[in-house]
Amino acid sequence: MGAAITVVGSVNLDFVATAKTLPAPGETVTGATLARHPGGKGANQALAATRLGADVSLIACVGRDALADEALALLKAEGVNLSRCLIDAKASTGVALIAVDAKGENQIVVAPGANAAFEPQHLSARIDGALICQLEIPVETVARAVALTDGFVGLNLAPAADVPAELLARADLIVVNETEAAFYGSRLHDGGGLVAVTLGARGAALFKAGEQIASASPPKVTAVDATGAGDSFVGALVVALIEGQAPQDALTFACAAGASAATRPGAQPSLPRRVDVEALL
Ligand code: ADP
Repeated sequence: MGAAITVVGSVNLDFVATAKTLPAPGETVTGATLARHPGGKGANQALAATRLGADVSLIACVGRDALADEALALLKAEGVNLSRCLIDAKASTGVALIAVDAKGENQIVVAPGANAAFEPQHLSARIDGALICQLEIPVETVARAVALTDGFVGLNLAPAADVPAELLARADLIVVNETEAAFYGSRLHDGGGLVAVTLGARGAALFKAGEQIASASPPKVTAVDATGAGDSFVGALVVALIEGQAPQDALTFACAAGASAATRPGAQPSLPRRVDVEALL
């Protein structure tokens, strides 16, 4: 059995419209094709870590609706433990509306629904193994999850939001993209843990207590859709670090996992398996 990871986070159903160009504000772009994929950063990162060999449990909140069945189908089929997932009968399952252009750039609008109704009091049991959280559920719920674990804590601070200093300080690993890194600034480094900054096609850098300790470029790939690249990166970096890989090796592995996800459309369908990542390295 692989390393034990619990993800406390979001579940969404993604509606992906692929068009020639992304709309400017007020503009309508027609001629797109539509696909529906299970998504949400929590669900995506749970599946990413599972496909890379970890033993993963997802704690998330969905509505009592058909969107939930569709959103959780792939996770269920691939063996993510969903026994601690919650159903909120008053909320609808989260939905993400994603537009992707011919170059693989994306624009995303999220209607969080049940993810926003996931409250701290829903969590009471201890969390074993490593924990991964993102910010698509209330930050108070993330703080509660972190308080329930003594193990490795990985925080993907996305989307950018106000986060209490104690939470940043407790993280063994923080992962942000360039935009999020600019939002948080030097606060990211206050706790002295690892901080990974992803740079899209340029790869990623890893810092410890504010000092850069590693950098990696992704292998050369033909990117078609960067949706899921960040989630693939987070899952891969946590798996590699808790397996005991050295920081440089873990970062290289995570960059290859992100690059692999960028070569296929959608979020969950694009997340690579271990063999896919190893083939790129
Ligand atoms: P996010 O989607 O969260 O903004 P990034 O775009 O920085 O995250 O992507 C995360 C990781 O995925 C990058 O560090 C890189 O390794 C990989 N990646 C993303 N886009 C590409 C691309 N076009 N080509 C190769 N690798 C990519």
